[in-house]
Amino acid sequence: MSPHAKPTVERFVDFDQKTDMPALKKAEVPQFYPLPVEDIRARYFTHLADQVYLDHAGTTIYSTEQIRNFQLDLTTHLYGNPHSRSPSSALSTRKIDAVRSRVLEHFNVTPGDYDLVFTANATASIKLVAEIFPWQQGSHFVCLQESHTSILGIRGIVNGIEGTSASMTSEQDIVQNNYRLCNHDAPSLFAYPAQCNFSGTRFPLALGQDVKRQNPNVKVLLDAASYCTSTLLDLSDTANSPDFITFSFYKMFGSPTGLGGLLIKKCNKSILKKSYFGGGTIAAIVASEPWQRFHATELHDIYEDGTVNFLDIISLDHAMDTWSKLFLSFRNISNHVNILTTMAYDTLQALAHYNGKPLCTFYNISASERRLSDPTRQGPILNFNLRRANGSWIGGAEVEKIASLTNIHIRSGGFCNPGSNQYWLHLTPDVVKDNYAAGHVCGDDVDLLNDVPTGSLRISFGAMSSLQDIEKFVAFLRKYFIETEPASMPPIVHTEHTTTNDSSNAHIQDLIIYPIKSCHGYHIPASTSWTVTPQGLLYDREWMLVSAETGLALSQKRYTKMCAIRPELSVSNNTMTVNAPGMPALIISLEPTQDELSSIPICESRVCGESIGVHRYNDSAINNWFSEVLGVEVSLARHPISASAHSRFLKPHLQANSPSGDTKEPTSISLSNESPFLLVSAASADDVQTKIDEFSDTREQVNVTSFRGNIVIGGQALTAFEEDQWKRISIGSQQFELLGPCRRCHMVCINQETAEKTKEPFVTLALYRRIQGQVLFGQHMVHVPSLSQFPYTLRIGDPVVVQNQR
Ligand SMILES: *Cc1c(COP(=O)(O)O)cnc(C)c1O
Repeated sequence: MSPHAKPTVERFVDFDQKTDMPALKKAEVPQFYPLPVEDIRARYFTHLADQVYLDHAGTTIYSTEQIRNFQLDLTTHLYGNPHSRSPSSALSTRKIDAVRSRVLEHFNVTPGDYDLVFTANATASIKLVAEIFPWQQGSHFVCLQESHTSILGIRGIVNGIEGTSASMTSEQDIVQNNYRLCNHDAPSLFAYPAQCNFSGTRFPLALGQDVKRQNPNVKVLLDAASYCTSTLLDLSDTANSPDFITFSFYKMFGSPTGLGGLLIKKCNKSILKKSYFGGGTIAAIVASEPWQRFHATELHDIYEDGTVNFLDIISLDHAMDTWSKLFLSFRNISNHVNILTTMAYDTLQALAHYNGKPLCTFYNISASERRLSDPTRQGPILNFNLRRANGSWIGGAEVEKIASLTNIHIRSGGFCNPGSNQYWLHLTPDVVKDNYAAGHVCGDDVDLLNDVPTGSLRISFGAMSSLQDIEKFVAFLRKYFIETEPASMPPIVHTEHTTTNDSSNAHIQDLIIYPIKSCHGYHIPASTSWTVTPQGLLYDREWMLVSAETGLALSQKRYTKMCAIRPELSVSNNTMTVNAPGMPALIISLEPTQDELSSIPICESRVCGESIGVHRYNDSAINNWFSEVLGVEVSLARHPISASAHSRFLKPHLQANSPSGDTKEPTSISLSNESPFLLVSAASADDVQTKIDEFSDTREQVNVTSFRGNIVIGGQALTAFEEDQWKRISIGSQQFELLGPCRRCHMVCINQETAEKTKEPFVTLALYRRIQGQVLFGQHMVHVPSLSQFPYTLRIGDPVVVQNQR
């Protein structure tokens, strides 16, 4: 233990006098390192400046020092492929041997007791154990509920061997001697994590011994990947230490990646198998007959097939040098992160909404047992979900998305730990299967199903985490998720306003079409009346760019350069002229002949949820032009030019919708981002700007064109977001029914003029225009011909009058 007294939990939380909100006390975090952690950060982790990195359980972060030293080493020494006589080879061999000893020393074991096998990562180490383990009839594999998927994967090997079985167990079962194995004679394997990567719960080495006591034929595999990140795994008590220990070095030092370790207790050597072989593990072999003999000297000689990652092993040496220089020992790191974790937990659990309902629901076993500050039971990981004041869940992907835009690095989802996920989120096997059937897969954005979380949020600390990281994270939660008064984050901000009428001077300020989907908009000239069709303004999203590789339409979200592609229409010339920087103008006919388009339609199902085909252009000059601009192979494609195509943006229920509509429920829109017309209000865009100026630390300017509306309305008396209340409006002599707000994504952060990506206006919109995880701006509309005058046209200046309110 450190000489510093461990502060008690109560010390960390204070209450802000003004807001009555819990605040971190500016209590000093004791200094465990030679320098204050802030100084270490500033000097040796310059790439972490301004970043709130809270994903050390994913990987901790390498320091600039170890990378620089490694680079210098490689560029001043000649390292060859090991195990030969040349000086360059001998140098590599010597280095590898030295690092191997150093790693053994780190774990406090002697080469007499353990050998280290270098692998690609912890998963490869686990897989190797499963491959060399002497499974036989009656063997059993059992793992702890808190195991990583990489451990569960051993099931895959065991299931392929006849007469073996696999199961899961809990710590409680083991401690209460409820653990049973099928056959006491066959070798069996018990695997468990030293630290759960989901909750940070730590399990003692004694757990393996408990199992061994119940069945001496059990070997113990300890997955130390998560544990090793921030604390010392001391294996010096060899009487009680595990048979196999697996880990990845990047989790300990940030770098190198692609290098893992497997410690094997040497007493197991005689029972382990060797099946696959390759490279340097061979002592003698006959190529023409199945006869081979292996090096039988050391375990690593037997199990390191192929060339080891010798340069990264050298990198590891520098990483270890740097870590001992900056942090002295892993015991210091352990003390440091332990205090930060306790502080963070204490502050987060005190965060509450105006009605006293807590913001965070924790999934940390030791937290509920108030043993969070006990480093033998809890590592530096907090796992939780957020709830609103009304108790409803906030989706983890939503939180992570907003965090990412503000340089906060957290993780959401299931963390490759299905047992913990099932346990904490009360997901029965059936629920997991149902969720999968409903389309939810690991790593997707589906954070809630039936309003229940499918995953959670995880923050984790590492050697160079600081108090500031916690403060900034808490400030972030406060700003975006705490409701300080009733309805401070209502479905939609309902502002008091008078119904817009002629005197408000509401009118069309701009009319914009996007002839090529996701490319730059074309502003309809002021004096021009533009035709309104059932599926939108004429020529709006009539064309698209389709990836040659996937056959799917490209989106600006991924290909920001698309907004530099500027189409201009000339209806009188029947042409669309497309410009892009550094390219000659491309002229395309508005009404191509059948020959110009491929006769076979390609499915466009991912575009708007309907399987309606588009036709590619045959002309390679056209396709090459776009491919050159974007740097990927694409084809221009067009919707079929026939009247039947007119339903393509309209779902049947939208067409069937009655224009009078008063007696019906308002039509809900299920289209992802397409509807015939998107109305945006300049007053609302101005309001977003005001909020950015007020809340955001940036000076970013919002341009109403970022919202990519078709009809931009303005007018002095127009109030922000009054369009939320509208049900039906007339614009000039045309009537439109409003279908509901448009859900927004990061695409609103792409400046349509410069293709630059920023965090605004999304971050600020997320602050006050968010409902059930959806960020809303603008209104979808359909045209109502039966209430409109022919010809159906719009033009800039047409007055907007509200006919019906919600
Ligand atoms: C990260 C981790 C793994 C997997 O490590 P890889 O480097 O991805 O192979 C396995 N188990 C635990 C507990 C982990 O935290």
